[in-house]
Amino acid sequence: MAKYIFVTGGVTSSLGKGIIAASLAKLLQARGLKVTIQKFDPYINVDPGTLNPYEHGECYVTEDGAETDLDLGHYERFLNIFTSQANNVTTGRIYQTVINKEREGAYLGKTVQVVPHITDEIKRRMLQLGQDGQYDIIITEIGGTVGDIESLPFVEAVRQLQWELPEEDSVVVHLTLIPYLKAAKELKTKPTQHSVKMLSQEGVHPDILVCRTEKPLMPELRRKIALFCNVKQEAVIEAADAPTIYEVPLAMMREKLDIICMKKLNISTYNEPELTKWKEFLDKLKYPKSKVTIGLIGKYLELQDAYKSILESFVHAGAMNECQVQVVNVHSEFITGDNVAEKLGGLDGLVVAPGFGHRGVEGKIVAVRYARENNLPFFGICLGMQMAVIEFARNVLGLKEAHSTEMDPDSKEPVIDLMEEQKKITAKGGTMRLGAYTCELKKDSLAYKIYGYSPISERHRHRWEFNNKYLEMFENAGMMASGKNPSTGLVEIIELPNHPFFIGVQYHPELKSTVENPQPIFVHFIKAAKAYTERKAEVKNPLLQSEMI
Ligand code: GLN
Repeated sequence: MAKYIFVTGGVTSSLGKGIIAASLAKLLQARGLKVTIQKFDPYINVDPGTLNPYEHGECYVTEDGAETDLDLGHYERFLNIFTSQANNVTTGRIYQTVINKEREGAYLGKTVQVVPHITDEIKRRMLQLGQDGQYDIIITEIGGTVGDIESLPFVEAVRQLQWELPEEDSVVVHLTLIPYLKAAKELKTKPTQHSVKMLSQEGVHPDILVCRTEKPLMPELRRKIALFCNVKQEAVIEAADAPTIYEVPLAMMREKLDIICMKKLNISTYNEPELTKWKEFLDKLKYPKSKVTIGLIGKYLELQDAYKSILESFVHAGAMNECQVQVVNVHSEFITGDNVAEKLGGLDGLVVAPGFGHRGVEGKIVAVRYARENNLPFFGICLGMQMAVIEFARNVLGLKEAHSTEMDPDSKEPVIDLMEEQKKITAKGGTMRLGAYTCELKKDSLAYKIYGYSPISERHRHRWEFNNKYLEMFENAGMMASGKNPSTGLVEIIELPNHPFFIGVQYHPELKSTVENPQPIFVHFIKAAKAYTERKAEVKNPLLQSEMI
């Protein structure tokens, strides 16, 4: 039987519950336990697929095609495992299930209520991943902040489960904030006391407090928190601000968060943590030998979470190359033919990000042209690949009116068109081409050189595709379709063999990059960016050039 760890949050949002949960999971995994994490989100959307990235950050897509919260990305990146639809549940999904059951007559004669019907469905889903013996430990992160109206049924479900399960089968970890008041030069514990009180009023008493803090928690302060919040002093954990999220598992290990959890869960046999690969990665991350600057062209740049997986993939790929990757945001709406050289001139590589809708598209096309004509390493992801196709059509094939029917439904040259199966779909939630699909690579391509094998499998989230009616024209002019779906012929990868590094992918490679397995396109793109800076240095410094000769 699996054991359950529940992670709640208090005082404010954005304390990094996902990172704490993922770090704890990493440590338990490193000690030889089979662990997975799930997130329960208290909003009414059935999934975050219909949310604007400005509201909620990136929508993370799993292998099985679930559109999920970005915390699942952290779970996969830390644990190097796949998550699935079952790992992210929202209030909307819970209600949808209960209401469907009610319509089917499952509760005939009964008044359907939050308690017990909604809470029963929450509990069923909380326990679900632990049913088939696949895992020793299920960590459940409860989204939102304790005290929110929305999260009440989830906390109530935790209360009931704690009552139902044997004492040693569950533990509650509460993440909280200990603010530092500059004027008083003091760390303040009152907000934490209040949030623990609130949680207790809802019937759940935390076993462990993880305290986010800017300053070290001295023993007397830990004692005070322990006393007032009624937890053991050893269970007051300091979570100091860390230079990177990847340091957090080691910080939590120093604080013995994993040991304290296992003690409460009565797990007495475990190994010394095996974190060799993790530590190697951290060393490379901390002591880079070179640096490149990558431009990320997108339109949701005000909120970094909108491109979370891309940014993390660069962290992984940078460490692999022992290279510091500085990502600079370039707002596509402000790029024009006149300022493009000035805006992109300092870059060593260009990424055009995924996206939807018309805004900012022309700037992206101008940026792709600059990369193509100046041998600047280029990497287009999903919409970014589609932009590269449109740019090539307009400026190389001379199809001036080339466009995607997403932006111009009446385009005379629809080089990017709506997928056939999408044409009859009207509902917006969960209806894109989602999840993992196979892609076959051409042997003599950059893509094959990068991956080293074929077929590959990557994850998707799109409605439009390369229009194969134009394929011959493109290939004759030097753009190669180097990856295709074997059953439908859908173009998954385009590249320019006469360019040092120019690749566009219809899928989202960033969703599969992990600390232990950095995504190969990102790794090779950084390699190409390094080569580009070296070439730039040679051109600028003739002495260096002659030395090289
Ligand atoms: N809007 C484009 C499509 O739906 C690209 C999607 C994306 O970048 N994720 O095909």
